[in-house]
Amino acid sequence: MSDLSVTDAQACILEHVKRLGVETVALHNSLNRVLAEDVSANRNHPPYDVSAMDGYALSFADIAAASTDSPVRLNVVDDIRAGQMPQVKIERAQAARIMTGAPTPVGIDTVIRVEDTMLNGDVVSILTPPKQGANIRPLGENLKTGYVVLKQSAMITPGVLAILAMVKKKEVPVFARPSVAILSTGDELEAIDDPVDENKIPNANSHALYAQCKSLGIEATLLDIAKDNQEDLRNKLTEGLKYDMLLASGGVSVGHHDFVRPTLEALGITMHFWCVAMRPGHPLAFGTSKNSNFESGTAVFGLPGNPVASMVCFEQFVAPALRHMTGHEKLYRRTIKARLAHDMKGSLRKTIFIRVTLQHDEQGYLATSTGAQGSGVLMSMALAEGLLVVPARQDGLKAGEFASVQLLQNMDFQNETGVEV
Ligand code: AMP
Ligand code: MG
Repeated sequence: MSDLSVTDAQACILEHVKRLGVETVALHNSLNRVLAEDVSANRNHPPYDVSAMDGYALSFADIAAASTDSPVRLNVVDDIRAGQMPQVKIERAQAARIMTGAPTPVGIDTVIRVEDTMLNGDVVSILTPPKQGANIRPLGENLKTGYVVLKQSAMITPGVLAILAMVKKKEVPVFARPSVAILSTGDELEAIDDPVDENKIPNANSHALYAQCKSLGIEATLLDIAKDNQEDLRNKLTEGLKYDMLLASGGVSVGHHDFVRPTLEALGITMHFWCVAMRPGHPLAFGTSKNSNFESGTAVFGLPGNPVASMVCFEQFVAPALRHMTGHEKLYRRTIKARLAHDMKGSLRKTIFIRVTLQHDEQGYLATSTGAQGSGVLMSMALAEGLLVVPARQDGLKAGEFASVQLLQNMDFQNETGVEV
């Protein structure tokens, strides 16, 4: 099979993963989830016209001509507090003291701020009239009974959550999140709880992948490290296939001890591709269980063993798949255009992801490489604020040229992949 482009691989993945079902969660736990139904208002808010200010409710016609030289004086005949219904109809040449949020009385059309008045006993003087109708929030300005106030697929931000609270949604229908298993493979790997052995390689990938899932709101399960033999792999991969998604790292290449792909195939996984034209990240395998009903099947990623490659592949392929499964419409990291601080190497026919830091000046963003870019140099990823994309059609970019950078430390997403191939 020839290498797929990054964008073709992304499209192939999205064809094979589906939104999960709906579950109900408590209001506070719905933050950052995706709303699974339209939500309509069950009330008007405000429930009646209310004052937007502490001040005086009055009839504009009475005060239209007021000025500093000839102030208008009105008798204050009522004192209306928030949560209290007005008892008195306000007649001409009268006013009611009114608090913010209190219902406006009959007979008035304007509220003047207390700061723009002078009170003497029960008489208020108006020196500068506000506009007619000022400082009144109309009934239903926020919510109108029966109207859809939130659409299905809305991401639940704090502002959205506040609306849900206003319409009394103590329980919120959201798209379910997939269960995810993480399996690192390799005889050389040392688990975090093992004593340090200078001859081994500490397992970074399981923890990096766990953190990447967690940053998307998904609590993944770490399986025990699998050895590079078919029996151990078969057992551990079988365990992983009980989950909605399995992330295996390492052993997916063409080396003599790379058994992940054939073992997955033997376990009934259909492999859709196993090589993508990118660096870091080639090889990268993707498959799904043959089960036609995906909801009880598994999406499997065979990620490269090199830690940077594994993390970059998660960003390009796993994260969009997880976001799609959890109901998000914006699947890809927000990209910005940045100027290169120095030349950056590419590779014809491969999309190259360079780990960069970003500075911002009058001319926009400036991108600087985080240093050695080998796919095992994890420090390049630890320092990175973004992934700069050198398109496959170019073998490099020069200092001063512009390129797209995926922002890694910001949880803002977009519809477009942001990768030029
Ligand atoms: P592989 O893809 O299995 O050939 O592994 C490629 C490189 O990545 C090797 O140097 C491995 O030691 C390293 N590697 C594989 N898995 C991990 C892991 N979980 N954590 C850190 N390094 C790993
Ligand atoms: Mg290996």
